[in-house]
Amino acid sequence: MLPQLQQAVKSNLMVHAYLFLGPRKITLANAVDLAKAVNCLSPIEGRACGVCLSCRKIEHDNHPDVTIIEPLGTSFKIEQGRELHKLISYQNYEGKYKVLILTGGDLMTHSAANSMLKMLEEPPEGTIFILLAENGDEILPTVLSRCQVIKFGEEVLEDPSVEGEKQDEYVNQVVTLVQSLPQMDYAQLLKISETWEKNKEYVPRLLEGLVTWFRDIGVAKLIEEKGMVHHKDYWDLLLTSPLSPDQAFRAAQEVAQSQQLLRQNVNFRLAIDVLLLRIQVYFQSEAEE
Ligand SMILES: [Zn+2]
Repeated sequence: MLPQLQQAVKSNLMVHAYLFLGPRKITLANAVDLAKAVNCLSPIEGRACGVCLSCRKIEHDNHPDVTIIEPLGTSFKIEQGRELHKLISYQNYEGKYKVLILTGGDLMTHSAANSMLKMLEEPPEGTIFILLAENGDEILPTVLSRCQVIKFGEEVLEDPSVEGEKQDEYVNQVVTLVQSLPQMDYAQLLKISETWEKNKEYVPRLLEGLVTWFRDIGVAKLIEEKGMVHHKDYWDLLLTSPLSPDQAFRAAQEVAQSQQLLRQNVNFRLAIDVLLLRIQVYFQSEAEE
C-alpha cells in the first residue's frame, strides 16, 4: 500500500471518495489493501495485519461490507449506480467501514456518473468509495472534483502479484511485520501475539516466511546475487535492510528455534512475545557486528 494511504489510515484521516488512476492490477490491489487496512481488527501502523478474520474475509472476497463492482459489459451503466444506492443504504454488517470499489471508472456513462454525484458528495457515515480507472481523461470533471486522486505508476509495483508470478501470500504480511517491528512499542508487540493466537493455523506459514525472509537478507548482503535469494521481487528491500548479514542469519535462527518450541506445547503467546522482542533487539543494535 502507498505510504500516503497508510498514513491516512493510521491517523484516521481517510476521505470518503478516492479515484485511483493506473494499471488495473495495481489500483485494484491497492484498493483491496485499503479496504483491509480500514477494517482490520489489529492493524499494524496503518496497514492490515493480513491474518485477522476481517482481513481474510476481504482476501477471499466474502466480507459483507466490501464490494467490488465491475462494469456491465463495456460500460459502467446506470443500473450499477442503482446497485450502489442499494448497497450504501444498508447498515454496515460487521466492518468498521463499508468500502465500495468501482472498477472501470473511465467506462462510466454520463448518466451513471451523474447518478453517483450525490453519493460521492454526501456518502453515509462509514462509507468509502474507491473508483479505479486506467486514466483520468474520460472521467467527468464533476466526479473528479469530488474524489481524492491518487496516481499509480509502474514505479509503485509494491504488490508482487503484479509481476505475474504466483507469490507466497504470506510475503506481504512478513514484509509488513519486519518493516514495522523496529518501531513498535511493547503494547503493539503484545497485540501481535494476541492476534496470532486467535489465528493459530496461519502462524506456521508466517514463521516459515520470516525464516526465509531473514535468510534472504543475509544472503543478499553477503553474496549480492539476486539468483540466490527466494524473494527476488523484494531484492532492493532485502539489500537495504538495516540488519547485517550476521544479525539476519541469527534472526532466522531465532525464528527457527521458536518454531521448534511451538511444536512442544509451550505457552504460545509467551513464545511469540519473546521471539518478537529478540528480533527487535537485532534492529536496535544496528552498529553491532
Ligand atoms: Zn487484519
